[in-house]
Amino acid sequence: MAKGLKNIKGMVDLLPQDTPLWQHIEAKINHVLSSFGYQEIRLPIVEYTDLFKRSIGEVTDIVEKEMYTFEDRNEESLTLRPEGTASCVRAAMQHAMLDNSQVQRLWYQGPMFRYERPQKGRQRQFHQVGVETFNMAGAQVDAELILLSHKLWRSLGVDSHVRLELNTIGSLADRNRYKADLVAYLSAHKDQLDDDSQRRLDTNPLRILDSKADATQALLDNAPNLHDYLSEESLKHFSFLKAMLDKAEIPYTVNPRLVRGLDYYNDTVFEWITDALGAQGTVCGGGRYDGLVEQLGGKPVPAFGFALGMERLALLLLETGAFLQERQQADIYAAVVCEPEDYVTAFGWLNQLREQYPNLRLMTDCSSGSFKSQLKKADKSGATYALVIGSNELESETVNLKPLRDDAEQKTVPLSELSDTVRQLFFE
Ligand code: ATP
Ligand code: MG
Repeated sequence: MAKGLKNIKGMVDLLPQDTPLWQHIEAKINHVLSSFGYQEIRLPIVEYTDLFKRSIGEVTDIVEKEMYTFEDRNEESLTLRPEGTASCVRAAMQHAMLDNSQVQRLWYQGPMFRYERPQKGRQRQFHQVGVETFNMAGAQVDAELILLSHKLWRSLGVDSHVRLELNTIGSLADRNRYKADLVAYLSAHKDQLDDDSQRRLDTNPLRILDSKADATQALLDNAPNLHDYLSEESLKHFSFLKAMLDKAEIPYTVNPRLVRGLDYYNDTVFEWITDALGAQGTVCGGGRYDGLVEQLGGKPVPAFGFALGMERLALLLLETGAFLQERQQADIYAAVVCEPEDYVTAFGWLNQLREQYPNLRLMTDCSSGSFKSQLKKADKSGATYALVIGSNELESETVNLKPLRDDAEQKTVPLSELSDTVRQLFFE
């Protein structure tokens, strides 16, 4: 196939065999979110580039090298959203949803775009579910969202495959004091740092804390510790959160080097990590971002949120066997073999059945194939029964019900009794 007619690298199709898993996950997410009282918000996929620059920060990987940015026809710089928080905050501000300290519990889902090297669990178009809350300053909501995500793993049957890492990174002022000391310490050992970390020393030194290089990590063992720089208030917030998580029996590890990449976080940050997916192990991450609304020109608004990666979650369910592919497309597969004039009568019978049982999954063969070929397709559909109609049945006003999943006898059912029979088989 010519290159221009193929999908773009890292932007993949989800085929019919993939979608049952996604629908399963989406249904569980929907259910858990509404059980906690969260409301869905739907946001545009494209925004002005400035929004992401100002919210995510100029010296982050995302803004420096991962954004899909282009000029539209009137030469304005637009960007395919690399994440959802910025858009969600923009919309909430724009529609006065944050004024007068209004509490908001919002969620969204959809594609995000980042120009990264595609690999397992990492794509250029990927999908996130994001949850954002506003105007709740206390650790209660931090605990609520971590609890919510934990309930989600439980309802998806993957809770034993993810672990929670937690940290507090204090206020911007605390971090700036810490940054100065960290940079002083690391600069004295600059030659031992990996290349990325050397570069980050000038741009985003906190990111050095989550460097993957062993030598860098070893160097950090003797570096100043962020927790020694935090205010009494931040530490109290963190203790309160930990007490709530303990109460809910959610295990966690405090990882003092977990900082997350973005400028806008403060106090609580967390990640849910799995070892089942190799290097791309973070399924979900989030934290508190009390400074973002102000950074975008509003009044300060406390905020807490997280985003989870749908591709990684889907892979996790597959790899841990938490989702067994359901092949069944129908309860009944109708095979009709007759002349078109007579088909009209059978069409009417089947439609009556649909009218009576809107929840019945009835699939009709629309080919003019032989009985043999239609029954083969019936079997492939995974249906429990084939409902067979030929010219004999049309004449005697009967149908044949043929069990496809066991050895039970096929039986002839008068049309007048079909409705009762279907009710007995599927709805009693
Ligand atoms: P990573 O460290 O793996 O690059 P990140 O810190 O860039 O992740 P976030 O911006 O916090 O990720 O996004 C939240 C979640 O979205 C991640 O934990 C992950 O599950 C998912 N995610 C991020 N980037 C991608 C991608 N390119 N492809 C698939 N999923 C992704
Ligand atoms: Mg990333």
